[in-house]
Amino acid sequence: MPSLNANERVRPALAGFEPYDPAFSPCEVNLSANENTHPLPESVREAIARSLVATPLNRYPDPLANELRDELADWHGVKRENVMVGNGGDELLFNLLFSFGGPGRSLVVAPPCFEEYKNFAKMCETEVVEVWRRESDYSLDADALIEAGRHATLIMLTSPNNPTGDLVDPELVRRLLDQTDALVLLDEAYVEFAEEGASLVSWVHDNPRLMILRTLSKAFALAGLRCGYLIADPAVIDVLAAIRQIYSEDVLAQAAATAAVRMRSELVPVVNDIVLERERLARELLTLSSATVWPSHANFLLMRLPHAARIRARLRDEYSVLVRDFSYAPGLADCLRISVGTREENDALLTALHALVEGEDA
Ligand code: PMP
Repeated sequence: MPSLNANERVRPALAGFEPYDPAFSPCEVNLSANENTHPLPESVREAIARSLVATPLNRYPDPLANELRDELADWHGVKRENVMVGNGGDELLFNLLFSFGGPGRSLVVAPPCFEEYKNFAKMCETEVVEVWRRESDYSLDADALIEAGRHATLIMLTSPNNPTGDLVDPELVRRLLDQTDALVLLDEAYVEFAEEGASLVSWVHDNPRLMILRTLSKAFALAGLRCGYLIADPAVIDVLAAIRQIYSEDVLAQAAATAAVRMRSELVPVVNDIVLERERLARELLTLSSATVWPSHANFLLMRLPHAARIRARLRDEYSVLVRDFSYAPGLADCLRISVGTREENDALLTALHALVEGEDA
């Protein structure tokens, strides 16, 4: 077969990107992707199943998913015009950079954070300005962020942050809105696992440059569905509505998401259980010799452990437990990220880790 060098022909800004591969080895216990591993309550499962069965597939979807937008708007005390649904939060992040980024514009991020911000910015030919968190405790450098934000088009912060688990101080968001002219995205993908009142959704009404990203992939246990949403000023939503892939949110995802959001109160016990398990897991992990575990407001914990990469490989190969290796990532030497699972899954992890770490120490 004659060969084609596609890399020579690809748009220069896109050359060199690799397919996303989170190295999911099939394992009995998968705590690597910050999913919600608890089973959905039966009532929610049934409601989703009923609405899927009742959804015809021969018609195109409602492009803007208005029924779902209304349900989300009702929940968050905003209007339909403030909500945009996307094929996962990822699509909305990409569309934000596609819309508001571009040559001559810049995005400020605060690594270590979700890598896709940077990837999407590069794809959209947007300069990335990194304001690194402090090495000692991963806290944000507020003054440096504001200084960088003064020259930026967009700022993206994560609250709680992936992978460090901390919340963004609302005072910093206040200062970014007051002292810069940038659009500020607060990514609240994990905020349901934080304390009541941690979300800044209610600020959007009075702050047209503030945008909040949410997703059904985490607390709602619907990562496979691909449904995220943005709450923002109607002017921002209008731009996103105009440039989006028109049918990116399919009929089944819209139907299932609408049913799940209507039944959101039934998910509260699941979220509460994950929060309790997170605290128990953190206490237990801290008993491992030489482990550092950062406080987390999300459904995962960041842990630093000597020989992290080797321990992670042994967890996978000898105990069929998968966690995420960040030990190669800048600023995260010897760090693993562990999603909080069910009690049984967390116990399996703890038993394996204790055996491995004690073995390595011996
Ligand atoms: N933001 C953050 C911080 C995330 O960790 C993720 C998923 N890992 C997303 C956004 C996107 O989630 P999804 O596309 O599944 O909605």
